[in-house]
Amino acid sequence: MSRLEEIMGYNRQFIEGKEYEPFITSKYPNKKLVIVTCMDTRLIELLPKALHIKNGDAKMIKTAGALITHPFGSAMKSVLVALTMLKAEEVLVIGHLECGMIGLHGDQVVSQLEEKGVAKEKIETLRHAGIDVDHWLDGCDQIEQGVLDTVKLIKNHPLLPPNTLVHGLTIDPKTGELTLLHQDQL
Ligand SMILES: [Zn+2]
Repeated sequence: MSRLEEIMGYNRQFIEGKEYEPFITSKYPNKKLVIVTCMDTRLIELLPKALHIKNGDAKMIKTAGALITHPFGSAMKSVLVALTMLKAEEVLVIGHLECGMIGLHGDQVVSQLEEKGVAKEKIETLRHAGIDVDHWLDGCDQIEQGVLDTVKLIKNHPLLPPNTLVHGLTIDPKTGELTLLHQDQL
């Protein structure tokens, strides 16, 4: 059975057994929070549990490294939509220790893409067109700096509603312990 078939089969049982019932809630975050965090597998259940976040409590935006690097990309758009249409009021940027984005250089990703069959010519074409593929795929030197840069990008965004609190933290992917890097104040 393929991974997808397994998921589809499980899903049928999930629906038939009405296992969704404990999760029913609205689209508005009860705690009025937006959380920008990493896509790391260790945080899927740990982060909500460690923060006492339940289904319906927060808007969760996940990117590699909890990094938002483009002020007019889809991650920042999600933050703005959460703060307006979805009535969130406060943003937490939560990077984590041992993140795969620490020390990652875009050229490493590019060589793996080549190994996976992406033609070198395509990558060269992008470079010639002025798209800095290597830099775009970069991680960060230190996760703390990555978090603070993301906090700064959100906080300084020209479309951020005034008085929005934007905090920066890290989480330990083993214990769930939070470390506060930046506590925003009005
Ligand atoms: Zn990570």
